[in-house]
This record gives sequence, structure tokens and C-alpha cells, in this order.
Amino acid sequence: MDGGYEGPPGLENSAAGTQSGAHSPHLEMRGAGADEGSDLHERIANGHEAGTVDEPTNEPQGLQEPETEDIKTVPAGNTIYSSATSFEDLKLSPELLQGLYTEMKFEKPSRIQATTLPMILQPPFRSLIAQAHNGSGKTTCFTLAMLSRVDPHINQPQALCLCPTRELVSQNVMVLEKMGRYTSIKATSTIASASFPRNHRITEQVMVGTHGQLKNLYSKRILKFQGVRIVVFDEADEMLKLDGFGSDSVRLVRDLRRDAQQPVQFLLFSATFNERIKSYALRVTADDGKEEVNQVFVPREDLSLDVIKQYQVECPTPIDKVVVLEEMIFPQCEKLGQTIIFVRTREIARTLHAALEKAGHRCTSIRGDLDHQLRDRVVNEFRTGITKILIATDVLSRGFDVTQVTLVINYDVPVEKDLLTPAYETYLHRIGRSGRFGRKGAAFNLVSGAKEKQILSSISEYFKHEIPEVPYNDEDEFLNVLKEAGLTDG
Ligand code: ADP
Ligand code: MG
Repeated sequence: MDGGYEGPPGLENSAAGTQSGAHSPHLEMRGAGADEGSDLHERIANGHEAGTVDEPTNEPQGLQEPETEDIKTVPAGNTIYSSATSFEDLKLSPELLQGLYTEMKFEKPSRIQATTLPMILQPPFRSLIAQAHNGSGKTTCFTLAMLSRVDPHINQPQALCLCPTRELVSQNVMVLEKMGRYTSIKATSTIASASFPRNHRITEQVMVGTHGQLKNLYSKRILKFQGVRIVVFDEADEMLKLDGFGSDSVRLVRDLRRDAQQPVQFLLFSATFNERIKSYALRVTADDGKEEVNQVFVPREDLSLDVIKQYQVECPTPIDKVVVLEEMIFPQCEKLGQTIIFVRTREIARTLHAALEKAGHRCTSIRGDLDHQLRDRVVNEFRTGITKILIATDVLSRGFDVTQVTLVINYDVPVEKDLLTPAYETYLHRIGRSGRFGRKGAAFNLVSGAKEKQILSSISEYFKHEIPEVPYNDEDEFLNVLKEAGLTDG
């Protein structure tokens, strides 16, 4: 088995957990108020209900990529890197170039690719901590890095890619296989490991996985680190969270440094690195000052993408949130592309899904307690556009790349585990599911009550980005703002 929910091992089924702050971020939190039968709205109205929280696991031509002039580069040592203007500049193999042009249909590197790839691919292969906007093409940076740096003639794992959720593992494998189609490099993942025989040894050059599962395979000696030369942390700030995967990640880095028979290059990518995580990440990758690490960062106030128009809708009562969905948003959805509705807990996902379905709206939902097959099916149906509206917990808030998503609804404003602190990073990642690679996008934040309003206003201040209000019952105004966001002609 692939080990339940793609988070920390053994946590998937801990449904009886309490809301104590000691949990890892992927842990279920079931509060006292979350009894199955109670009415959704009553429960939402009760702001202190903990509930069960989930957190982590092409048609590009002519698109505008996000404005990234604001990227700050801090190269280590005296190495001078020049930004690449074409994929040819990067001296990639003909097979990889073919993958980029024919399979991915990319024309030229995005800004973050042009900036980071020379740093990654050029000796001395320094480690890198790189922050860049959501949807700016970070996956390509580390996928090309892994595909360029492994030797297909050596049958052992040489590149590892760690991700916070099963969905991201599967997405990153998909990209890797597509981009590497013309190479003879092989990849496997912790999802595939479900069908490994007992005495299996991984011989594929690239291994992608969630780290609970990777740890498991390593301890069973199915996965060995001797040949590893490059390690990627996707959503790195999440992977290093001190109250989450942090200590496991550090242990893994230590095991890698000990076992690997050559220097290991660490690549840490995310759209968000707060100051604390940034210095922690630097300590981990620089091996407490023994190594020089390249850095690329975006100032906080430049993180909120202007292409994603953000609004708040003040709902007099929690039940009005459903009314807004049904009367103001869903009638437009057909014209809008695809929509993700983020909710805070598994219970809300389930109850909202049931309520909307009962009212005759077609939608699906994904949460960490669904079995893998169902999770895969829900994601695939959404990816292929069979379903247009997806209700999701934060299991999908990071990394999920469906370019047709134009609208994100924060049905619940994102909060940390204490239910009081605004979850700034989660906010940015959630809204970043729309507006991929410079496409248009909009986000509606449904707020009810002073507490939610206050949380949203803190988020707005934190990113120095205004979130104007749309009256909850003004249909014309909804049409106007959707038009303003470029999603409809009105
Ligand atoms: P993120 O930086 O959030 O990880 P992704 O790597 O998922 O973003 O990329 C977002 C989208 O942009 C993907 O659909 C990807 O295929 C597309 N993309 C990435 N690089 C390029 C490029 N150089 N040209 C065109 N599209 C690209
Ligand atoms: Mg990503």
C-alpha cells in the first residue's frame, strides 16, 4: 500500500485526534463540535469548531507570464551566472529539448527558469533555495534539473523529489514522464511502490514521493541513497515546517549526506518562504555554514499576483455563503472555466458537497479521508474537465496545476491550527490555483462575522494587497467584477 493519506505516516486514520496544537499539519483534527449529524450552517456559525483539516500532499503559446522583475538573486561565492534566454542556452540534451518543444509545447524559459537553471546546471552544482510566484513554472526548473543531472546508464536512484501530498507526487511524475519522453531515464514514485514486491530494489534513476513513504522505503532498504546527487523539495516551506514534516526532512537530509557517495545538490522550491522558514532552510541546505547556497527570492508585497483579482463578499449569516454560491457564482460558472471551492475541514467539504448536490448542482469534492482510488478519480475528472466545480480541503491548496481553473472561492478563510491566526501562505497558494502561468483568475473570499473579516483584513495587510468588497446580493456587481477580472464579457 502507499500508506494511507500522503502525509506523515500513521496519521491518516487518526480520526479521533483532538485539536491540540501538537499535531503535524497533515493531521486530522476532529473537534468536539463536529458531530456528523449536526447542521452544516450551525456548525460553521460556531466559529470554534475544529473539524478535520486536510493539508498537504497546454496551451502555452502567446501567454503572458507573471511579472517577476521583483525576483532577487543572491548567488553564493564568485560564480557568475548569466540568465538563459532560450532552452538552447542551457546546453540541454537534444532529447530534453525535444521533450520541451514537442511534448510540453514550451517556446522559451520563463523568468524563474531562465534565472535558476544556469545556477542549478552549472558546476559546482550548488544547492538552491528558490522562491517564485505560483504558476510561474517552478516544476520545470526542478524537473529539467533532475533529468539533466542523472545518468540513464546507472541503474540506481540518483534524483529524489519530495512532495507534501499524493496528488503532487502524481502530478510531478506526470510532468517528469512527459518532459523526459525522449530520454531513456526512468522514474518511479511512492504511489507505484504500492505494488513493489517484498525484496524490491529501486533501480529507476528518479524517485518521487511523499516523505513518510520515502522514509519507509529507505528503512526497508528498498530505496538507497548511495547514488543520489540531487534532491528536490517541492513546496519546500511546507516540507520544512517545524510543527510538521520539518524534523523528518532534516533527518532525511542527514541520511542522504551520510549515505551518498558524491556531493548532494539540494533544490528547495516554493512560492512562499517566511523569514523563519527561510533561515531554517538555509541552515539545513548549507549544512550549518559548511556549504554555499544560491538563493532566489521575491519580496512579500510582490507575491500576490495582480492577474488574480481578489474580492471579499460579506455574508450576513453563514447560510448566505451557500446562497452566494448558488445565486451569484454558479450561474456564471459554465462560462468561467473551472472553479475550486476551498473549505477548512473534511466535514465541511462533505456536507457542502451533499447540500449543493441536493440542490441540483454538479460538483465533486476531495478530502484526505477519501480512499486513493476515489481521490485519483476526482482529480482526473477535474483535470480533464469532466467536472467543473471542485470542493477541496487544503490537500489541494499547493501545487495543483489545472490551467483551466479561473475561479477560486475561499468558502472559509484560511486559518492556522489555532483557528485564529490567518494562514497567509495557504491563502496565497489557494488563490494561486487560478491564474496559472499568467492566465486570468479571480478569487472570492466569503466572510461571515467579525472574526473572518478580521482574518481577511490581516491577510490583505500582510501582502499589501487590497481585497475590495462585492455586495453579497448584487448580481450586477458580481458580473462587473468577473468582467473586470477578464473572466466573462458580462
Ligand atoms: P509553479 O511555479 O506554481 O510550480 P508550474 O511549474 O506548475 O508552476 O507551472 C505552471 C504552468 O505553466 C504549467 O501548466 C506549466 O506547464 C506552464 N509552464 C511552465 N513553464 C512554461 C514555459 N516555459 N512556457 C510555457 N508554459 C510553461
Ligand atoms: Mg509547483
